[in-house]
Amino acid sequence: MSQLATMEATGEESENESALETARRQLREAAAHVDIDPGVIERLNHPTRVVEVSVPIKRDDGSVDVFTGYRAQHDDVRGPYKGGIRYHPDVSAQECVGLAMWMTWKSAVMDIPFGGAKGGVVVNPKELSTREKERLTRRFAEEIRDEVGPHRDIPAPDMGTDGKTMAWFMDAYSMQEGETSPGVVTGKPPVIGGSHGREEAPGRSVAIIARETIDYYDMDIRDTTVAVQGYGSVGANAARLLDDWGAKVVAVSDVNGGIYDTGGLDTRTIPSHEEEPEGVMRQDAPNTVTNEELLELDVDVLIPAAIGNVLTLENADRIQADIVVEGANGPTTSGADRVLEERGIPVIPDILANAGGVTVSYFEWLQDINRRKWSKERVYNELESEMLSAWDSVREEVEAGDVHWRDAAYVVALERIGAAKEARGLWP
Ligand code: GLU
Repeated sequence: MSQLATMEATGEESENESALETARRQLREAAAHVDIDPGVIERLNHPTRVVEVSVPIKRDDGSVDVFTGYRAQHDDVRGPYKGGIRYHPDVSAQECVGLAMWMTWKSAVMDIPFGGAKGGVVVNPKELSTREKERLTRRFAEEIRDEVGPHRDIPAPDMGTDGKTMAWFMDAYSMQEGETSPGVVTGKPPVIGGSHGREEAPGRSVAIIARETIDYYDMDIRDTTVAVQGYGSVGANAARLLDDWGAKVVAVSDVNGGIYDTGGLDTRTIPSHEEEPEGVMRQDAPNTVTNEELLELDVDVLIPAAIGNVLTLENADRIQADIVVEGANGPTTSGADRVLEERGIPVIPDILANAGGVTVSYFEWLQDINRRKWSKERVYNELESEMLSAWDSVREEVEAGDVHWRDAAYVVALERIGAAKEARGLWP
């Protein structure tokens, strides 16, 4: 972990902060608001372990390429490690640790019995054929097989991976273990133990939390305009639900840019990334905007649901939305967080807003362990009630203390994690 040892966050705020630096800064800032043993905070500042593996695969042309993969396990005091696997060229050990920390808080905010992990392979999945992706996934699963398991560490989809990836992972693990083990990953297709509603769950939770926030700030959802950056599973599902509930979704975008209609877009007819990759700009709309312009539109609610670090010190002064709801993991830099707070723009954090993903992952895991499928209605109802209960805990913290939404969510998470650490103790 020498790489990580040198990553200790300094006091200086930097716009090029890694996910790990941001996660550590947020932990430090939130810790000031919680009555918790400093030893617990120190332990949470470090991951339990980070595994680095080489993942050699045969390309379709017969040549061999070796990719690097990681699995970072941050904390498991409340239950097995849990978190996605991403395929992206920017994956690094530090990024995995930062994202794993966010998973620990996310599970704790939702009060589900999991800890936090994240993994990934440094690769551009667009440059792999489907067969190559399958070979990469199976070999990665084999390389980290000792670290994962239904009661140890349970991966899920993240950027660049999907249900198909999870099916290959589950199959490779099960073949090697000699028994079908659906609970080793979540986000699988329903035919092999996946849960109804898992794919749309992060977007659904973003919509639920946006709806509650709109209500909290005495706005009427039917008079609310929304801009959504990113039209993948999170952005498209959030946009469509808010549209169904009466909000006017005026702008959406994908990697190529966005479309904008002050009269409101028909979110159902715009294809999500899964339905037609990069299809947003092919739709008819009165105006187009760049991804940067979309963030600065004069809307009531802004939902950054694409990638990290899009709200920065550079653009935070120009954000005109009244409310920001984080759909992506880590879309707001620490500098932007501070500016938006000073400007009185509430930022509802990722660890609450998009936590529907890991929550329905928990439902999926329960279904796998019990070999009993839930109906879609049951998943939706239980997700709704889990989200409202987490929302209430965080809202009460905002109302009780002098904290903004992110710190409030951290306080809720840290109190639960701190209590578990205290109950279990430090051994030996
Ligand atoms: N990758 C998703 C996230 O960042 C889901 C993780 C999970 O379901 O384990 O929340």
